[in-house]
Amino acid sequence: MNKIILFLVFVLTASLTLQAQENYKDISTEDNAKFYAGKTSYKVERYEEPDAASKPKNVIFLIGDGMGVSQIYAGITANLGEMYIQNFKKIGFQTTFSAKDYITDSAAAGTALATGEKTYNGAIGVDLKAKTVENIREKCEKQGMATGVVVTVSVTHATPAAFVAHQPQRSMYEAIAADFLKTDIDVFIGGGYKHFTERKDGMNLVDELEKKGYQVETEMNKIAKVKKGKLAGLISAEHPASIEEGRGNMLETATKTAINILDNDPDGFFLMVEGSQIDWAGHQHNTSFLVTETHDFDKTVGIALEFAAKNKETLVIVTADHETGGFSINKGNMETGDVLGEFTTGDHTGVMIPVFAFGPGSDQFTGFYDNTDIPKKIENLLKN
Ligand code: MG
Ligand code: ZN
Repeated sequence: MNKIILFLVFVLTASLTLQAQENYKDISTEDNAKFYAGKTSYKVERYEEPDAASKPKNVIFLIGDGMGVSQIYAGITANLGEMYIQNFKKIGFQTTFSAKDYITDSAAAGTALATGEKTYNGAIGVDLKAKTVENIREKCEKQGMATGVVVTVSVTHATPAAFVAHQPQRSMYEAIAADFLKTDIDVFIGGGYKHFTERKDGMNLVDELEKKGYQVETEMNKIAKVKKGKLAGLISAEHPASIEEGRGNMLETATKTAINILDNDPDGFFLMVEGSQIDWAGHQHNTSFLVTETHDFDKTVGIALEFAAKNKETLVIVTADHETGGFSINKGNMETGDVLGEFTTGDHTGVMIPVFAFGPGSDQFTGFYDNTDIPKKIENLLKN
């Protein structure tokens, strides 16, 4: 009997270890997971938009993974009627379907947003024939701009990977980690330390990063102190915690730190920031998780807007890669911040996704277009 139990524990542990990086997709079994009870709200600042017609020097591209219109409105309701995202006046809609599927995954959508190329679900920075396609971050790098990626998942996960790596499958985390060393990316902050150190090829990529001149840090308080140079911030073995599990203001701090470092470059910078776990909340059918992650992302949008309003040469773009969960709001209260959510699927949906733009070049982002148009628009705006 004991042997059977031991065996079952072994099988369970083994499968959990295998699935650890992907188990965020399990639907929550918690009671009341679809209800968010209003809590404290945060103050939202208003920023004056600089001249929208001129060309940008810097681009901050913020992606709320799985963040559709309902996710945004749940965040607004829960924050008693306001979010930073309401600062945006230039708003458009993008379609998200991938090359072969009406419903995209984050790899194909990330690749579309990064390279302007429609590809198959699972592809990281490659086309339908699994051939490398140059991404907008690489193009900026070639122009001499500083570049960075800041996320709340492993830096090897689909969305950040699409802005850095070129691999036929999103699950090739170790190969994706190795691709970071083939770039000149100046700053990357997120989780995924393990994919740099516990590798089948026996390589220690943290050593390699240090040899290339990166300051490698694993704690947010140390990351926050870095003012210049190349920075690799790997704050967890795999994915960082959620807000509800105590991630704190990591995304805001990491974004501020990245902007400060990248802004040293006289040629300008490109920074991609992802609120990665909004997607997980949608997969899990958990409204409270969804609201807290959306608020965290929105406060980070506030950091970008504060910089852009002062700097006046920075284009800020906020969008999502797709919607997750078929989320809707069945009850809400602007006075208490309560939100009762409902979900129609455990997967992503095919609905149009809003795009918000602020600052020089923002006019280009109104109207209807495809996800692949976004990096093309950015590239055109950065051309001299
Ligand atoms: Mg993502
Ligand atoms: Zn997802």
